[in-house]
Amino acid sequence: MENTKFDACPECDLLLNRALPEIGEKALCPRCGHLLYRPRKQSIERTFALSVAGLIVIFPANLLPLIGIKLLGNSHDGTLWSGVIGLFNEGMWAVAILVFLSSILFPLTNIILSLLISVHLYFDKPNRYLGSWMRWLQHLDEWAMLEVYTLGIIVACVKLASTADLKLGFGLYAFVTLLLITAMLASSLDTYLFWQRIAHLRRHEA
Ligand SMILES: [Zn+2]
Repeated sequence: MENTKFDACPECDLLLNRALPEIGEKALCPRCGHLLYRPRKQSIERTFALSVAGLIVIFPANLLPLIGIKLLGNSHDGTLWSGVIGLFNEGMWAVAILVFLSSILFPLTNIILSLLISVHLYFDKPNRYLGSWMRWLQHLDEWAMLEVYTLGIIVACVKLASTADLKLGFGLYAFVTLLLITAMLASSLDTYLFWQRIAHLRRHEA
């Protein structure tokens, strides 16, 4: 299992005993000062609440227009979906896939997995998929840099809005909120605690 103990400092490879700091404290590597572990306050409750909020806000973020365009008297609304389809039709399929993954699929998967895991841990319900969900969630984190790219889309929208006949739609505000929620999710989820609780549930399952 991952992340259940620290055999070696990931920064300087110093061999260490397992350190279990209290909430508010942190475990630092005595040699290089690398932050090994900092327990987060009410991690399960926060992750639960944030993923519910994320699940609510992901619908307007994906379905409501990010921007509205007025062309020759007709107004067009651009949603994330229509943007992805538009890029695809223009032959920019690589960009279309990147936008789809970073702004639709990854946030949705992230929120659903966080919700599934935190609900089970919150109500002490064992589930044989908990470990797999947790591993997928951690792999998803490796792609988190895509958020930077997503921010680029938003900046482009805002810049366009100031030059062309565009207005920012409610979907854009929902989308920014969604980004904030996913960022907060990442910082509230205590992987060490979660793995510990999963192992605990597994032991009491049998
Ligand atoms: Zn170290």
